Amino acid sequence: MTHDATSARCVSCGMPLNYDRIIHGDAAKPASADDGRCTVCRTGQTRQEEGDESHERLLDLCIRLAQGKRGWVRRLSSAVARLPGVGQTRVGALANILSSVPARTDASKYDAMVLYSGGKDSTYMLVQLAKKGLRVCAWMLDPGYQSPQAIRNAENLTRSLGVPLIVEKKDKVMADGLFRAGFAIDRHSDTELVKGAMTFGSACWPCFSLIAVSACRFADEHQIPLCFIGTQRGQNRLNLEGGDVLTSTALPKVSSLVSRFVKPFRRALPAPVPELALDAEESTFPTVLIPFYEFVAKPEREQQIRAIEAYGWSLPKNTGSCSSNCMINELGRAVMRTRFDFDLYDVIDANERRLGNPADPHAAQGPDPTAVALGATLINLTDQEKKVFKIHPLREAKSAQHQ
Ligand SMILES: [Zn+2]
Repeated sequence: MTHDATSARCVSCGMPLNYDRIIHGDAAKPASADDGRCTVCRTGQTRQEEGDESHERLLDLCIRLAQGKRGWVRRLSSAVARLPGVGQTRVGALANILSSVPARTDASKYDAMVLYSGGKDSTYMLVQLAKKGLRVCAWMLDPGYQSPQAIRNAENLTRSLGVPLIVEKKDKVMADGLFRAGFAIDRHSDTELVKGAMTFGSACWPCFSLIAVSACRFADEHQIPLCFIGTQRGQNRLNLEGGDVLTSTALPKVSSLVSRFVKPFRRALPAPVPELALDAEESTFPTVLIPFYEFVAKPEREQQIRAIEAYGWSLPKNTGSCSSNCMINELGRAVMRTRFDFDLYDVIDANERRLGNPADPHAAQGPDPTAVALGATLINLTDQEKKVFKIHPLREAKSAQHQ
């Protein structure tokens, strides 16, 4: 792929055209051939009738099934799903979803786990779920980059909700190695790695791989029927079997995260890492993954923050504007911009626009220089790495921010 310094965006949805070309296999085509629009907008695939319809009642039914109640609904759903011709209909999709929810067993410690980052989206989700009367735990991975404020938030909030908090700490040297492997992927890497880094993020992909393996092991060990994830809809459209839940074929298994994220990422590693050595087939309990915000609409930012502040949550000041828990997120964005001329949030925002949702104004601002410098210090970037990633030292970054 040739270097495109203009970092052109689709005039219609804002998708970076460099990303569009590599995802749709048109890497050799110049931007001018696209009349300024991405492949999706040009071929009229946008706005697949999603609407803002709430599926909260469906979610509540899934929860009852996980709790071992309403067994007749699962039996009926399985029967309906097998009827000829019903597969592609809304009823068929509903039947597929309901029959895919496993029931808890006597050995199940919880009905549900929440992939809990401590950030505002997963916090709001946890608060809503805690009100639903199910045995839920907040499961958090700390690879060494959680803001201390995010940890305090998690402790305060779970205490006031009466929800168990499980924090899995990872060896930071190991985690640093994974992040470096993510940062090392550039436009000259093999195409599948480039697609992965562009889609899941230079810093988020390694972190999410670690989360996927550890969460799968936890869900399996405790036989947890449901695993909730608080990714936004524009993010789910990347690669989480996104799409309107009522048109999906079944809820994805939590182990599908391993085949989707971890397996391809392992190819970026210079040597095998035991923490990522898990294959989807090794999970025996069929935990399903529930993308919460496909079922329940996410309120606008200020309203969401007010709702969780009532439980003792407060916005960290050292994470930049796109994350409310992670201190390496902005460095990841900066590395992506150097590598690919855009960052993860540009892609997520374009997906939101395609769905007719407003984009996050913070993404357009670019990475926060102070948070970028903090991330660089935490991971001990060498001078050579800083030069390659075009990262400025903290003092310059501070003055740049105040300009
Ligand atoms: Zn577009």
